Amino acid sequence: MATAKNRSYFCAVDRYLNVRASLRRRLHAVVVALVLGPLAGTAFASEIMTLPSIRSGNAIRLLRDEISQNVKSSMRGQGLAVPIRFARYTVAKDDNFYRIVTSTHQDPDTLASLNHLAAAADLAEGDQILIPNARGIFREEGGPMSVYIPDAKMHFFAGLRFHPEESKIFRGNDFVYPLHKFIVTSSYGTRLDPFTNKQTFHGGMDLAAPEGTPVLASRPGKVVFCGNLGGYGNLVVLDHGHGYRTLYGHLKAFTVKRGAMVAAGAQIATVGSTGRSTGPHLHFEMRKDGQLARPRLVHDTTY
Ligand SMILES: [Zn+2]
Repeated sequence: MATAKNRSYFCAVDRYLNVRASLRRRLHAVVVALVLGPLAGTAFASEIMTLPSIRSGNAIRLLRDEISQNVKSSMRGQGLAVPIRFARYTVAKDDNFYRIVTSTHQDPDTLASLNHLAAAADLAEGDQILIPNARGIFREEGGPMSVYIPDAKMHFFAGLRFHPEESKIFRGNDFVYPLHKFIVTSSYGTRLDPFTNKQTFHGGMDLAAPEGTPVLASRPGKVVFCGNLGGYGNLVVLDHGHGYRTLYGHLKAFTVKRGAMVAAGAQIATVGSTGRSTGPHLHFEMRKDGQLARPRLVHDTTY
């Protein structure tokens, strides 16, 4: 997105912020109109600016000001006072999700839904996230009240919040380990591929256990896939609602059928070594809105 268009937008914003404080409010509307003029009335944004800091500087001050204006206008039922736009921010070492929410004057649901975050702990140093100038929910599916945003390929529902259950899942501790006893042989992230001996990205967590060990559902859900799929070998996919899915790969055998509803801790399959596997283990993967997420699992003491 580093285009000449972006740079000219950035310069315009810088020029605007260098004017005397007393003129800022009055000029704001003019500058925004000039910059976003071609977009006025089209209800979508194509500009993504870089946010160098969430603590100080002109860019974060402008973003907070626009969020505040949009919150006020949405609450009055007047839609967005400032057309929606996004800032791109690279997560720093001392950041965490809630600190970013507070510093930017955003709310958790807005940042989580826009960035497909599966959990508050899903952000790590160096990750890039988008921060919008309005609060609401971003979804891939549209609706009558939505605004379509081409860059994010998502629909925006101003002022909407998460369903309480989605908030609960996002806050964490909702998914349990899918095996009673195991050894973690590979975690989520970059690793040395055992087949190619090259650094590759591992999208899940590998839990080694003897062949035939029961594989348990990590959370209540519906079996949406049960079959053989490429490198995964025998695979079960559970849908947990609110865009959350878990995948269980390299299975030996299935103990559930597609369409079945399963409880947390219920057996769904047995550990095997089918597909692209070097020995009996479970490849466990978590997805949010179809995108890979860093698995966050807890030990369940109820079974
Ligand atoms: Zn794996």
